Amino acid sequence: MSHPVYGHIDGPIVIIGFGSIGKGTLPLIQRHFDYDADKLLVIDPNPDTHLFLSQHGIRHEEIAITKENYREVLTRLFPGKCGFCVNLSVDTSSLDLMKLCRELGVLYIDTVAEPWAGFYFDTENNADRTNYALRQKVRDEKAANPGGTTAVNCCGANPGMVSWFVKEALLTLARDTGRAVDTPTDRAGWAALMQSLGVKGVHIAERDTQARRLPRPRGTFVNTWSVEGFISEGFQPAELGWGTHETWFPENGHRQDSGCLAGIWLDRPGAITRVHTWCPTPGPQFGFLVTHNEAISISDYYTVGDAAAPEFRPTCHYAYHPCDDAVLSLHEMFGSGRQQSTHEILDVDEIVEGIDELGVLLYGHEKNALWFGSRLSNAETRKLAPYQNATGLQVTSAVLAGMVWALENPEAGIVETDEMDHIRCLEVQRPYLGPVEAHYTDWTPLQDRWEHFPEDIDESDPWQFRNVLAT
Ligand code: NAD
Repeated sequence: MSHPVYGHIDGPIVIIGFGSIGKGTLPLIQRHFDYDADKLLVIDPNPDTHLFLSQHGIRHEEIAITKENYREVLTRLFPGKCGFCVNLSVDTSSLDLMKLCRELGVLYIDTVAEPWAGFYFDTENNADRTNYALRQKVRDEKAANPGGTTAVNCCGANPGMVSWFVKEALLTLARDTGRAVDTPTDRAGWAALMQSLGVKGVHIAERDTQARRLPRPRGTFVNTWSVEGFISEGFQPAELGWGTHETWFPENGHRQDSGCLAGIWLDRPGAITRVHTWCPTPGPQFGFLVTHNEAISISDYYTVGDAAAPEFRPTCHYAYHPCDDAVLSLHEMFGSGRQQSTHEILDVDEIVEGIDELGVLLYGHEKNALWFGSRLSNAETRKLAPYQNATGLQVTSAVLAGMVWALENPEAGIVETDEMDHIRCLEVQRPYLGPVEAHYTDWTPLQDRWEHFPEDIDESDPWQFRNVLAT
């Protein structure tokens, strides 16, 4: 099969982190870019990754990037004001690495606003442990130093691709409600479109049904992507973008007092905070309100009016049903108060069934709710690209799209995916996403309740967060 080559990368390509996402991104870089193979290097402290890299003739260094060494290592590896740094590692500060790369004239991309090791568990104050705090620092850096070498922040599946889906879903909804709409060209235009369509909020609604034949061994945390990454974000406070239609405020909720003011956080870990949501395969389901960058960035991007007293802002949050083995792993971990010592990421070849159904559920408008997303199966993934499951390919193909966009827009400064050309990015990514579909539903969070146990809900507006949050 021939694959389009999207451009030439001049200088070194350094991939930091070679876990499930790094390993899956490598073959996409090899396929879709023209570059000097001698200048591609992988950095990862895990000796297990190095056998694979040696066997495939890929240069690598067995080191961890740390706060102490990152400047020396990256300055050595990028001597010539060119190249691409692809940060797919846990425990490395996205902000520090992107600042340095921009200083060195090196393109940069990552998939989360990752902090240095220790942040997730050693930071005492919960407000400081939020993604809001991590994102705001990146936004402050962008405001302080606009323009310059492109650094794409948070460009995986979510955060990442789902921001492009929100735009596709808005255009779909506009078309299906008979509006003649030109594709907006700036933030204000997109925010006005969402407001005019009557959208109250967005769930990043995901159901992962990938499973292997072996039952989950007790004492093992099983997931379809980074276990370390999922545990870290799962222990952060639940967090969401807070919309202007909300009339109620959670008792354990906290507002932010500086920055974009688009989000609130709850004094409870996200991975044990359940919400009612909807995906095409299961229909209604529980998801976990795990904090994610896109919950804040989407609410921020679509704000109309003053940040402190907006005319319109959508509620936005993740509603994640991970694979069943991960649900059991969370149950065991939170129940015992101990992290499992063994971590396993389901491999494409051991998964015997399932898909990762990842999309955006736009709700509260005249057609009630629209889910728009990718329904990629593991079986199809196997045919599309090596070394990854369906979850991985949704992430790595977004990294590919982000790299293409950065090459084509090398002086765009620091950007997040809401700010990128979603049409170009999805054009690159779509061949790897399996069926990308729009589904309308008449489901609301007021349905499917257990009538024997009346709950404190607001029947006057089904889409209040008070109804979405499961008690
Ligand atoms: P993983 O746990 O499989 O792999 C992480 C790798 O990083 C490991 O190989 C580890 O040895 C390496 N590493 C750890 N510390 C390092 C350091 N200091 N320097 C260099 N390498 C180091 O994780 P993954 O599933 O590959 O995920 C990688 C990153 O991508 C995580 O931050 C994760 O949160 C993020 N992610 C984002 C999305 C998204 O959709 N936006 C989805 C999945 C993963």
